[in-house]
Amino acid sequence: MYPSKTTEKKLLDTLEICRQTYNDLLGISIETYQHTGKGLSNFGMNNCINYMGGVDKTDVHSQVLQNVSDRLGKAFQNFFRRIKEKKVKAGFPRFKKDIRSFTYPQSGYKLDNHKLRLSKIGEINLRIGRKQNRINGNIKTLTIKKMPSGKWFSMFSCEMKKRGETHNFPQNSIGIDVGLEKFATLSNGAAIENPRFLVKSERRLKLLSRRFSKKKKGSKEMHDSRVKLARMHERISNQRHDFIHKTTKMIADNFGLISVENLNIKGMVKHPYLAKHINDASWGNFVQILGYKAESAGGQVVKVNPRGTSQTCSQCGNNVPKTLAMRWHMCPACGLHIGRDLNSAKEMLNRATAGTAERYADGDGSPPLREIFEGSLSKKSEAPQLVGE
Ligand SMILES: [Zn+2]
Repeated sequence: MYPSKTTEKKLLDTLEICRQTYNDLLGISIETYQHTGKGLSNFGMNNCINYMGGVDKTDVHSQVLQNVSDRLGKAFQNFFRRIKEKKVKAGFPRFKKDIRSFTYPQSGYKLDNHKLRLSKIGEINLRIGRKQNRINGNIKTLTIKKMPSGKWFSMFSCEMKKRGETHNFPQNSIGIDVGLEKFATLSNGAAIENPRFLVKSERRLKLLSRRFSKKKKGSKEMHDSRVKLARMHERISNQRHDFIHKTTKMIADNFGLISVENLNIKGMVKHPYLAKHINDASWGNFVQILGYKAESAGGQVVKVNPRGTSQTCSQCGNNVPKTLAMRWHMCPACGLHIGRDLNSAKEMLNRATAGTAERYADGDGSPPLREIFEGSLSKKSEAPQLVGE
């Protein structure tokens, strides 16, 4: 969004009123809890908003303030849940020094071409996406957010029609291994490279943060440096987001059964390499997005235990020990000679189909997977059938 100076002042005022309202409500809620052992209901909180003194709340749309109490309500629910779970240090929700966003849960805004009209604030110019020029679906809520870089964004959450379930879905299967040098290796031999712009941006980020740490505290240079750093963070997160969405779409469109490593397994050995750490971070995000894309395309993602996938021969199951430095898999038992990551990806695919599939030397592995696959298809498109005795 590109607010004018006057409008930006109103946006900032709104954030500040939301912050004070949040903190006032939090104070009342804590007192209530200390006296009665119970929290305030949403109704109670909204009642409080009407009778609270302090800042002039007529400058803010009533639903925006209600959303503030909703947020606090959620924070308190988490608090009660922590008490229930008997966490030793279940502290109250915290008072906020800073609130960066506010939400119109239903109404109070109007989107007209490239102008957004906000109740109590005014009209703001905005640019929608880079390629698409409009918002798809039915807008449900609108959140206005100020980024650390100083930029303003409006975020629309929309309801979309679910895609039909009877379209052709991809029948191939694939295993994916997160790599050291590459972002990922696929079991069919293809590789997804770490995007070069991302590598470059990350190098720049390191430089900027080093410069930032050398600036004098409280100086103007420090402030400027902080904004630069925040912008770079934003840029990288946008680039990564873009990369992940494009890659996952490509995979979900082409493969029906997708096997990935489950990184949530407890006691997993942390990799000593930085590149792997960076990949690990976006890998969780990657798998999550891949999951819903695959599902809406009629496929599925299977998470498998990654332990030992690099040591096991994907062709014969023989154990072939190797150190991290050894980049090739050479099986003395069956003679398979392929890249280490490729072997892992293939083994990953084997594990997703364990018990039902034979080990296949090459090819995309689809023949042995057909059965599983059709199993998942019938679950999706037909009513469950009872198995007679
Ligand atoms: Zn082998």
